[in-house]
Amino acid sequence: MPEIPAGFTDPDLAQDPALLRSLLGISDLLVVVLDTEGRIRLFNRACEKVTGFSSAEIVGQSIWTTLIPDDEQPAVQEIATRLQTGEADNQFTNHWLTRDGDRRLIHWRNAALVDKDGKARHLVGTGIDITELDRTSKALAGHQVQLHALFNALPALVAEVDSDYRIRFANQGYRDWFGLDPEAQIGQPLAKVIGERAFATLQPRFAQAMAGEIAVYHGEVPYTLGGKRFIHGTYVPSRNDDGVVDGYYILSVDMTEQHRLREALEEETRRFRTIVDNAIVGVVTIDESGVVQDFNPAAEKIFGYRADELIGRNVAKLLPEALAGSHDDFIRDYIETGKKKIIGRGREVVGRHRDGRPLDLQLAVAEFIDGRRFFVGFIHDISQREQAEREAREHLAELAHLTRVNALNEVTSGLAHEISHPLMAISTLAEAGRMMLDKPEVDVDTILPVFTQIARQGQRAGEIIGQLRAFLRKDQSDQLEAHEPEQLIRNVLALLNHELVSARVKVRLDIDDTPICCVANRVQIEQVVFNLIKNAIDAMRSVDGDRTLKVSCSHSDEDGLCSFVIADSGPGIPEVDMERLFHPFYTTKEQGLGQGLSICRSIIDRHGGSIRAHNHRRGGAVFEFTVPAGPTD
Ligand code: ADP
Repeated sequence: MPEIPAGFTDPDLAQDPALLRSLLGISDLLVVVLDTEGRIRLFNRACEKVTGFSSAEIVGQSIWTTLIPDDEQPAVQEIATRLQTGEADNQFTNHWLTRDGDRRLIHWRNAALVDKDGKARHLVGTGIDITELDRTSKALAGHQVQLHALFNALPALVAEVDSDYRIRFANQGYRDWFGLDPEAQIGQPLAKVIGERAFATLQPRFAQAMAGEIAVYHGEVPYTLGGKRFIHGTYVPSRNDDGVVDGYYILSVDMTEQHRLREALEEETRRFRTIVDNAIVGVVTIDESGVVQDFNPAAEKIFGYRADELIGRNVAKLLPEALAGSHDDFIRDYIETGKKKIIGRGREVVGRHRDGRPLDLQLAVAEFIDGRRFFVGFIHDISQREQAEREAREHLAELAHLTRVNALNEVTSGLAHEISHPLMAISTLAEAGRMMLDKPEVDVDTILPVFTQIARQGQRAGEIIGQLRAFLRKDQSDQLEAHEPEQLIRNVLALLNHELVSARVKVRLDIDDTPICCVANRVQIEQVVFNLIKNAIDAMRSVDGDRTLKVSCSHSDEDGLCSFVIADSGPGIPEVDMERLFHPFYTTKEQGLGQGLSICRSIIDRHGGSIRAHNHRRGGAVFEFTVPAGPTD
C-alpha cells in the first residue's frame, strides 16, 4: 500500500501525475528542481514568467551560469551545499537574472529530495518574486526616514503613541524636552514620560484621538519636568494597514512664552484702557480723515455725547460751527506740509457741547502711527477747572472764617476785658466830670481834659470792636491790596493784647526802618499772623522763664517779597513733627483743631508766597512766611 502524502485523502489523486502538472502550471509560486550538479531539471510556468526563459531552453542548463548573478554565487552555493549535506530545508533570498539582464529578488524555501539511502538526489526550491514588495518597502522605509527627519526638524514636539499609550516614536524636540534617551524611548509608557498629572489632564484628548478623531488641547499642562507649561497640542489618530486606529500622533507646541507675552500685552492694554477710561482729561482719538476712533468717559462728560454717538463720525461735531468746516483742511495741511500748529504743544481752544454751548478747553495733541496715522487729543475743560478753583477758594474762605470764629472764642474773655477797660474808664471819667459840673464854679480848663479822655477811651473801645468785626468778617474775595505790614501786625496784637498780658509775654516788634508794603488780602494775612502769635502764646505758657515774642517784618528787593517772622521762647517743635506740622488735624493741644497752620499754608500759597518753620538754636519756634511786596511810594 503506497504511502499517502499528508493532506491527501484520496490515494488515487495522490498518485495522479496530472495533479502535479496542473499544480506546476497554475501556481504563482516559482518551482525549480536542480540535480546535485546544479543543472535545472524542472522550471515551472511561474519561473518562465518571471525570467522570460522558456522551460525548453533552460532545462538541462546549469543554474550557476544562467540565473544566479556572480556576486551572489558563493552565498547561494553555501545554501545548496547545506541541503546536499543533510539539511532538510532552508530559506533564502537571492536574485535571479532574467533573459533581459534584469534582476528579480526571490524569496526561496528549499528542500532536498533524498533517495532511500538518505542521500540528496535533487534540490527543490519554491519561491516568491518579492522584487516589487522590496521596492515598496524600501521606498516606504525611505519615506519613514524622511518623515522622521522632518519631524526632528520641526520646532514642535512630535511623538507617536500606540494603543497602550506607549511611545512608538519621539522626535528630537520631544526627546530633548522630556530628557529621553534616543534608544530607550521606544515602548516607554507615556504617563511615565510626561508625568501622571499631565497625563490625566490630556487623557480626554488622547481618548478622542484613539476613537478616531483629531483632538486639540490649548491650555496649561502640569508637567513633572519643567512644571506648568502652556501648550497647543494636536492629537491625530494613526491607523494600521487595515485602517484601524492603533495609536495616535502627538504634535505639541510649547507656547508658554507667547502666552506670557500675550497675557502681559493684554494686561498692558487693560491697564491702558483703565487709565484712559478713568483719566480726568478727555481723550479723543481720530484718524487722519478726522473720524473719531475713541472717546473716553471724561470726554463724554465734557462734550455731553456718548462714545457710541461719536465713534465713526467726524470730529467736527465737537467744534464750534465756524471752525467745524475747516478742521479737515487743517489735518490735510499738516499731513502735506508737516507743519505742526498744535501737535506737541497745548493751547486753549473753544469746543462745542452737545447742547450747543461753547466750551473753554485746553487741548494738547499727540500723533502716533499704528499701521496708519492717528491723532490723540488730550482735553481739559478749563471752565470746570475755574469752577473747581472758585469752589476751593470759597471752601478755604469758609474754613478760614470758622477757624477765626473758633480762635476768637478762645480769646473772648480777654477781648471783653479789653473793651471793658475803656468802658470802665469812660464811666469813671463821666462820673468825675459830672461831679465837676455839680460844683457852683465850673472850671473849664480842668473839665476839658476829662472829656478829651472820655472821647479817647470811647475811640479805643470802638477801635477794638471795629478790629474784631473786621477780623470776623466773612471775606470771600481774593482781593489783594497794598498794606503796611506793621499795621496788620498791630491790629492782631491789639486783638490778642489781653492774652499776651495775662500770659506775661513781652512783645518785641522789629520792623524795617524803610517803608514796607505788602500786596495781600488783609483779613487773610491778619488771620495768619493771629494764628502764629496765638500758637506762640500757647507754647510759651508751658515755660516758666522768659516769655518773649519777637515779630519782625522785612522786605527783600531781590525777590520782591515781604517776609514776616514770628519767633517765641517756648519749647520749640519736636523735630519728628516738623514734617506734619502744616498737615490738617495735626495738633498736640487738648482742645486743638489742628486747622490753624494748614489754613495759614493755604492762604500763603494763594498769595504766591511760602511758609516754613524751624527751631531757633537758642530754643523756641520760628515761623516765617512771605507774601509779594508792593511799591512803597
Ligand atoms: P492747633 O493750634 O489747633 O493745635 P495748629 O495747626 O495751629 O492747630 O497747630 C498745630 C500744632 O503745631 C500745635 O498743636 C502745636 O503742637 C504745634 N505748634 C504750632 N505752633 C507752635 C509753636 N510756636 N511752638 C510749638 N509748637 C507749635
